[in-house]
Amino acid sequence: MAACIFCKIIKGEIPSMKLFESEKTLAFLDIGPLSFGHALVIPKHHGAKLTDIPDDQLSEVLHVTKKIATAVGAENYNILQNNGRLAHQEVDHVHFHYIPKPNKEEGLGISWPTQ
Ligand code: C5P
Repeated sequence: MAACIFCKIIKGEIPSMKLFESEKTLAFLDIGPLSFGHALVIPKHHGAKLTDIPDDQLSEVLHVTKKIATAVGAENYNILQNNGRLAHQEVDHVHFHYIPKPNKEEGLGISWPTQ
């Protein structure tokens, strides 16, 4: 969809810090992170809500979300997916938030690659 900000990220028209990309899925760091390592995982198929996304795209998004959770290795984290304004959805392209909860004393013990 032409005006969709996440479709522009998929096309490379807006830069992002990519973590993973395949034919159907993209994962990148959230521009306004709620914690260090906050990532978004999106289907490349445009759809505003969970129910708009074909099952094969959704299942890969979930697998990639798990891959990221495994790679980061945070003991505590939230997976969040908002649908509709009243549910705090700001961007109308389905996205799963991966939000690690760092240990207050030790942090996550990870650093992101710079390239
Ligand atoms: O679930 P919700 O729609 O509220 O979340 C949208 C998320 O997209 C926000 O966390 C925001 O920081 C992120 N975002 C982004 N890059 C953009 C625009 C929004 O990471 N260019």
